[in-house]
Amino acid sequence: MSPFSEQTRNYNNTKNNMAAATRLISRLTLVTGGGSGIGRAVCQRLAAEGASVVVADISEESAHETVAGLQNDLRGQAHTATAVDVSSKESVTQLLTTIQTRYFQPPSVCVHAAGITQDDFLLSMEEEQFDRVIKVNLKGSFLVTQAVAQALVACGAPKGSIVTLGSIVGKVGNLGQANYAASKAGVEGLTRTAAKELSRFGIRCNCVLPGFISTPMTDKVPEKVISKMKSLVPLGRMGEPAEVAEVCAFLASDDSRYITGTSIEVTGGLFMG
Ligand code: NAD
Repeated sequence: MSPFSEQTRNYNNTKNNMAAATRLISRLTLVTGGGSGIGRAVCQRLAAEGASVVVADISEESAHETVAGLQNDLRGQAHTATAVDVSSKESVTQLLTTIQTRYFQPPSVCVHAAGITQDDFLLSMEEEQFDRVIKVNLKGSFLVTQAVAQALVACGAPKGSIVTLGSIVGKVGNLGQANYAASKAGVEGLTRTAAKELSRFGIRCNCVLPGFISTPMTDKVPEKVISKMKSLVPLGRMGEPAEVAEVCAFLASDDSRYITGTSIEVTGGLFMG
C-alpha cells in the first residue's frame, strides 16, 4: 500500500470515528438490562457517542454501577440509573413516567437488552422455567416496545429507533434452550411486526442476534460447551459485548435511517447461510 493511501485511510478512520463520536448528541436513550454484559456495553457506547442514557435494570445496584462508569453526555446532562422489571406492565409504565418527568420527553432510542436463561432439556423442563423465560424475554420485549412507542406517538416525536436483542439460537435452536429459543424467535417476529406498524410514525424497529458473547450470561455455560462452540465459530472466538454494542449504536443512529424490520447477526459467522 502506498504511503498516500495509508494516509488517506488514517484520515478516513479519524473522520469516521469523529462522526461516530457525535452522532447521538442530544438523543435521550433507554437501555434495559443496562446493568450487565451487552446492555452495559451498549450504555457505554451510546454515552461515548454523546447520548444521555437511562440505564434500567432489575438490579438497581448494577444500573448505578454502569452509570458511575459512563462518560458524561456532551451537553452535561446526567445519565440516570433506575430499577425496572421488564416482565411487569406496571413497572414498565412507571419507568416511562419517571423518564418523562425527569427529561420532559420520551426516549427516542431504546435498546432492550434485558434477558434471562433457565436452561434444561425439553424432557425435564418445568412449566415454570418455560413461563419465566417467555415472560422476561418475550413479554418484556412486547411491554418495553409498546410503552416506548406509545410515548413517542403521544408526544408526536418525529423519529424513534427501537432495538431488541434476539439471539441466533432463536433461528437455529440449541440443546437445553427450548424456552430461550422460543422466546428469542418470538422477539424477532414481534420486532418485524412492530416495524411494519410503527414506520408510519417514523419509528424504526430492528433486532440484533448475537451468537456467543462473553458476558455473565455465558459465564454459566460449562467450559467444555464453550470450547465446542468456539470451534464452530468461523472467526474462531467468542464475541465481546462491545462488538454487539457497536451494531446497536448503528441501528440507534440516523446512519441506519433506511433500515427497519431487519435482524442483524453478530455471531462471528456461526450458522451462516
Ligand atoms: P447478562 O445476564 O449479562 O445481562 C442481562 C441483564 O438483564 C442483567 O443485568 C439482568 O439483571 C437484567 N435483567 C434480567 N431480568 C430482568 C428483568 N425482568 N427486568 C429488567 N432487567 C432484567 O446477559 P447478556 O449476555 O448481556 O444478555 C443481554 C441480552 O443479549 C439478553 O437479551 C440475551 O438474551 C441476549 N443474548 C446474549 C447472548 C450472549 O452470548 N451473551 C447471545 C444471544 C443473545
